[in-house]
Amino acid sequence: MPIRKGGASVDLQQQPISALKGVGPRVAEKLAARGLATLQDLWLQLPRQYEDRTAIVPIRLLQPGMAAQVEGRVEAVERGFRYRPMLRVALGDDSHGTLVLRFFHFRAAQVAQFQVGARVRCYGTPRPGQHGLEIVHPSYRLLDDAGDDALGSSLDPVYPAIEGLGPVSLRRLIAQALDRLPDDEALELLPRALRDGFRLPDGSALPSLRDALLTVHRPAHDADVAALLAGRHPAQRRLALEELLAHHLSLRRQRIAQQAHAAPALRKTALAGNLRKRLPFALTGAQERVFAQIRTDLAKPHPMLRLVQGDVGSGKTVVAALAAMCAVEAGKQAALMAPTELLAEQHLNNLRGWLEPLGVRVAWLAGKVTGKARAKVLEEVAGGQAQVVVGTHALMQEGVAFHDLALAIVDEQHRFGVHQRLALRDKGTVLRQAQDERPEAGDAIVPHQLVMTATPIPRTLAMAAYADLDVSAIDELPPGRTPVQTVALSGERRPDLVERIRKACAEGRQAYWVCTLIDDSDEVIAQAAQSTFEDLGKRLPEVRVGLVHGRMKAAEKQATMRAFKDGTIDLLVATTVIEVGVDVPNASLMIIENAERLGLAQLHQLRGRVGRGRAASSCVLLYQAPLSQMARQRLETMRETNDGFVIAEKDLELRGPGELLGTRQTGLAQFRVADLARDADLLPQVHDLGERLLQESPELAERVVARWVGGAVRFVAA
Ligand code: ADP
Ligand code: MG
Repeated sequence: MPIRKGGASVDLQQQPISALKGVGPRVAEKLAARGLATLQDLWLQLPRQYEDRTAIVPIRLLQPGMAAQVEGRVEAVERGFRYRPMLRVALGDDSHGTLVLRFFHFRAAQVAQFQVGARVRCYGTPRPGQHGLEIVHPSYRLLDDAGDDALGSSLDPVYPAIEGLGPVSLRRLIAQALDRLPDDEALELLPRALRDGFRLPDGSALPSLRDALLTVHRPAHDADVAALLAGRHPAQRRLALEELLAHHLSLRRQRIAQQAHAAPALRKTALAGNLRKRLPFALTGAQERVFAQIRTDLAKPHPMLRLVQGDVGSGKTVVAALAAMCAVEAGKQAALMAPTELLAEQHLNNLRGWLEPLGVRVAWLAGKVTGKARAKVLEEVAGGQAQVVVGTHALMQEGVAFHDLALAIVDEQHRFGVHQRLALRDKGTVLRQAQDERPEAGDAIVPHQLVMTATPIPRTLAMAAYADLDVSAIDELPPGRTPVQTVALSGERRPDLVERIRKACAEGRQAYWVCTLIDDSDEVIAQAAQSTFEDLGKRLPEVRVGLVHGRMKAAEKQATMRAFKDGTIDLLVATTVIEVGVDVPNASLMIIENAERLGLAQLHQLRGRVGRGRAASSCVLLYQAPLSQMARQRLETMRETNDGFVIAEKDLELRGPGELLGTRQTGLAQFRVADLARDADLLPQVHDLGERLLQESPELAERVVARWVGGAVRFVAA
């Protein structure tokens, strides 16, 4: 991985690892494979564990499961071959305890070492064995009676393994690199003025970078090991702060580059005004506010980059439609991309219903649109007759050319990667100089981007993950919604549930039954849905049951969804294809089978399919006992709250940010020290620090980015 050079001169930090003793081309290559190329990279390669060899624990005081160092004399040796070769060495010490060292792999020379009476020092985690405590494959050393048996003065770091390099060599290399750590001022990139007076959230002062690195690599024997292992030691927080700062600055730089491009200024809003007047409802305050923000962005000659977060059912689609009208009125095009065909189709229907009366032409492009129909759509898109284009990933495919795309809208953006979002944007990118292959900052005209998500992200996390986007929240639901009552039921209660459905349908209500399985092959899930469909059909002869799953033809799916929407189907058995976006206000009962297998975000999405009308709605989470601790917490969270933001916080706590955001979307999961869940409380300070550093010295800001992010995070060219 190429490493960016910081300043003009290659300083010590940038010295290649090959400058160290014992690093030939082969070792250098192995290190490079892990992104380690410079001394600085080794300084930042932090231990994941510590071993305490600063003291000797009397054998009698050993605790099962607690790693310790012991020293004793060999009392007995036994070689066994019963099932497989085995070596057992009994050690005794002055405490009159006995510890067994057990080896399954060993060489003859090793056996010869263990003479009765030999002094052995070893380190490992004792476990209960047949005859008292034993350590399997301890690390050990024989002490001769005259030799060096001084104890270590600091805890021993354990580094993440690097293939082809032993732990001892790695530790030596890092130790060598640390010996060349420059003094404070040479190492520090944060100006003194920013560091002085800075307090970590727990009130402690900011250690210098040098102290922080030395503490983390070589903690003193009295260091707070518990804090170190939990990643909460001020030394680690110091490093995490700088790392988060580096990521923040690098996202910010992206954003600045992006905004240096030109975009068509969309200033007219009469058409949007017309649409508003014709809507069968009034916008909520939150919708008003967010649309006002979008309108302001669109009127500027630079591209909008806005994320709209809004809980399921908060009414994001209509806001997107209003934004699209600004593009249409300017004589340009808008595109709306959704992650599933079902959802895209629903958008198509909504948009046609709203926009065609205004004389706006809405085109449809999905994978299933083929042959002549496709050719015709492509022609309309390329010719500009299609003013709003709705579709799936098909919108980004080669061969799709827009006449003049001014606004790219991506719905449920968490389902797409950054690359896909940018691919749609690039459909509208026009280079000012045709010979350019890659738009440099400012050389291109790019469309405005509006991305929408119903997976709320905790605010702090959004700040870190989307520093390159402006974030708006539709934090209010349309009036008249009643909160969904949620219960968790063990699978044994299925018969009761069937009765409940019978009753609800008899009252004219509609229900979803969602099937999930641990096996996520489409085919197996489709089969499960099929058999549930048949089974429920038999048990509930008076109920009209429908089925949708991912393996059905689009037309079939669409027909069934339509029938459900029209009320000619009472109970819809479905796979999670209905997860996002599906909107049938009369449905008021949601049953999720094997709910224990779904994550919080998905459960919340599914539950959001009900509670859209006036009837009181309920959601039943059917689970198979026994529940894991995680699953139990998820179901409990679902029962306790309907608030997407609370659920997102809980999700963050349970799963960690990497999974929450999806690694494919951000480089955030690749932190060296920082952990967004643990270090989220640093983010507001990171923000401030970033602003101040940029003011004080953009050059230092660059070097912070180079140090931590370097070439490791490859951003898509803006
Ligand atoms: P989501 O934010 O989950 O995408 P939708 O855009 O699908 O939500 O909207 C959910 C439902 O609420 C739709 O039927 C939509 O027409 C309706 N809706 C949107 N805004 C309002 C409003 N201000 N008042 C009443 N109903 C609304
Ligand atoms: Mg939606």
